Amino acid sequence: MNIILIGAPGSGKGTQSRRFIEKYGFVQLSTGDVLRGAIAASSALGLHAQSFMNQGKLVPDEVMIDLVDSYMDQQEGKSVIFDGFPRTVAQAESLNSMLKKKATQIDKVVYFKINPQILVKRLTGRRTCSQCGEIYHVESKPSSKGHLCEKCGGSLTHRPDDREEVINERLAQFEKNTGPTIEFYRKQGNLVEVDSEQEPDVVFEQIIKILALAN
Ligand SMILES: [Zn+2]
Repeated sequence: MNIILIGAPGSGKGTQSRRFIEKYGFVQLSTGDVLRGAIAASSALGLHAQSFMNQGKLVPDEVMIDLVDSYMDQQEGKSVIFDGFPRTVAQAESLNSMLKKKATQIDKVVYFKINPQILVKRLTGRRTCSQCGEIYHVESKPSSKGHLCEKCGGSLTHRPDDREEVINERLAQFEKNTGPTIEFYRKQGNLVEVDSEQEPDVVFEQIIKILALAN
């Protein structure tokens, strides 16, 4: 099963993604991880991608698709969660044809709907563990260990891109780039929306139902 999670930064898709990895053994595919992995392994594709990055350029879509292709081959048929990719309609189309060659497809696209004002509140209070990536919130989910992570003791950080002015810019960018991608999948008939203003447990249950996974 291949699913795509689409949602503005702070819509809670990261939290849900982690739950699916833990409970159902999904592997996550984010472009950042795929790029870092290929570069660290010094694969031909990784080095090719790095040559663009070294020039301060974006990695072109066709290179990114090849990287995604090779990443999927390494997962030996495990279910994949796409996080933050595809970002554009062009990428979504390339992904479709790439998956078709593998005789597979995107099964569901889960869109995390949320009011922008709630997002700003969520993000400005968000703290992330610098070691294990666990996510906390100063109001709704504080760590019992103060500035340290409950799970691993790592220090909690406020990411620079979680500040209000940066958030507003990121939300505008998200609307501009991802709006058409959401419409693309809606037309394709596999877009489902979840109300991600609800508690994470409720959202998780809803997605399990949508994907018809065993609870
Ligand atoms: Zn931690």
